[in-house]
Amino acid sequence: MVHGGRVNDTTHPEKCLNPGLYIVATPIGNLGDITMRAIDILTRCDGIACEDTRVTGKLLKHLGISKPMWRYDDHSEHRDRTRLLESMRDRAVALVSDAGTPLVSDPGYRLVNDCRAEGIPVTALPGPCAAITALTLSGLPNDRFLFAGFLPSKDKARRDMLAELAAIDTTLVFYETSPRLTKSLEAVAEVLPNREVAVARELTKLHEELRRGLPHGLIAYFEANPPRGEIVLLVGPPVAFAASEEDADAMLLEALETMKTSQAAAQVAKATGLDRKALYARAMELRRE
Ligand code: SAM
Repeated sequence: MVHGGRVNDTTHPEKCLNPGLYIVATPIGNLGDITMRAIDILTRCDGIACEDTRVTGKLLKHLGISKPMWRYDDHSEHRDRTRLLESMRDRAVALVSDAGTPLVSDPGYRLVNDCRAEGIPVTALPGPCAAITALTLSGLPNDRFLFAGFLPSKDKARRDMLAELAAIDTTLVFYETSPRLTKSLEAVAEVLPNREVAVARELTKLHEELRRGLPHGLIAYFEANPPRGEIVLLVGPPVAFAASEEDADAMLLEALETMKTSQAAAQVAKATGLDRKALYARAMELRRE
């Protein structure tokens, strides 16, 4: 049960659904991933609010379900949203997006907030979500992660966003499109060059692919093999390199052969996560020795 009333009593299929909003996750590619609860609610609800009636119509056809559908996105006219809210006072309305979990880079945020404000019961049926599927598949650290939606399409804004996220000590998860993947990898290579990156493509589908490596290697791979389909881009956390004093000394000595002291300290700090000032002091000592 979530705020405002009881709407998650889906244990008695013969019963009518209580009025309210049911947020229903749907497959991100493989139709076999629809949950039993999702089928139950889509079968018993009074109507479905969806992003695109053609896309949801195909899913319903596959499931053998026929229901009224209303197009909804967060930019829908206030009047349409109000009408939808009013209908939820005595009808059970399911909210779905084209694929995956509604509200995750998809419409629904305003509707859910309006329901809460109006005391209309809301419940959510969990299910497929590309960000979570990619995270689990990638093998990158997942004790904490930050989902950041889509990177901006403009070069500078994209780099700025990555720079803003650089200090965050978690795996970063972005939604991406195939035509923009190389540009995004180039930005990662520039702003976060030492991070391990994963590209998860066509999840749950026939050509599912997971590729991991440093950004430069992945750029070379995807330049040779232009990606198709849907993509999640993941960037591992700053390298938690358990550098011993000997490791750090060795890296500093190598860097000092070609760089100024400050540059060498900055590079080793970036690669190891160790404190740049302490490395600078140590680099000065090494120069004197
Ligand atoms: N709400 C959806 C969810 O829960 O995953 C995400 C919707 S968002 C508009 C669409 C983006 O999700 C795509 O551009 C892609 O980044 C990602 N995506 C969706 N399906 C995917 C799949 N099968 N494989 C990889 N990424 C996918």
